[in-house]
Amino acid sequence: MDAQTEAKAAHGRPRVVLATRNAGKIAELAGPLSAFGVELVGLDAFPEIGEIEENGVTFEENALIKARAVAKTTGLTAIADDSGLMVDALGGAPGVYSARYADDWEMLPGENRDGRNIRKLLDALKNVPEGERACRFVTVMAAVRPDGRELAVRGEWPGTLLQSPRGSNGFGYAPVFFDADIGRTAAELTREEKTARSHRGRAAAALLERWRDFMGA
Ligand code: IMP
Repeated sequence: MDAQTEAKAAHGRPRVVLATRNAGKIAELAGPLSAFGVELVGLDAFPEIGEIEENGVTFEENALIKARAVAKTTGLTAIADDSGLMVDALGGAPGVYSARYADDWEMLPGENRDGRNIRKLLDALKNVPEGERACRFVTVMAAVRPDGRELAVRGEWPGTLLQSPRGSNGFGYAPVFFDADIGRTAAELTREEKTARSHRGRAAAALLERWRDFMGA
């Protein structure tokens, strides 16, 4: 019995692994995927999988690197995502380097990594006028089956960058990301409002739309 058949036999439903240890991300996708008869599990179920190096230069590459590695190790279908912020005036930066953007800057007292990233970003844009501060959050979700079949979908959330942070929900660049359609920053939205508009929500919707075809023979 191969690993996938074994997993299915043990649980009654095919298991799919989401390449994260973040319980929030697992919960978001587990509900919709259960409608397809899938049991979604996170990496905590596979402690043998260590850190996967994300050395791609695009979101697609990074998401596929992670999904391929997890599919290979577990013998199960794996889903992985990669996200970041792309700023037009910076030629698409920080992009895949969003989380580590300001790692070359010193941390101020009381500051965290997100705060330091925002400080570096606002500094890079200090001479960029209001009308030229367009940006977008991007998520790519990749799915890889144990037989090698692959799918990658993309979700984008367009916005503009404020001159100073507003709001306290969310993480990362949320307080400086302004959605003009609703007149609020990403950090001023509830979780539900955010999921309905966000890059991650849109990528997840695209993945679900293509799921049945992808898992079909
Ligand atoms: P990840 O691939 O989901 O870990 O995202 C990489 C980085 O992009 C995060 O560390 C954040 O800096 C930024 N980012 C991604 N999604 C969001 C978001 O929804 N709000 C704010 N920042 C985000």
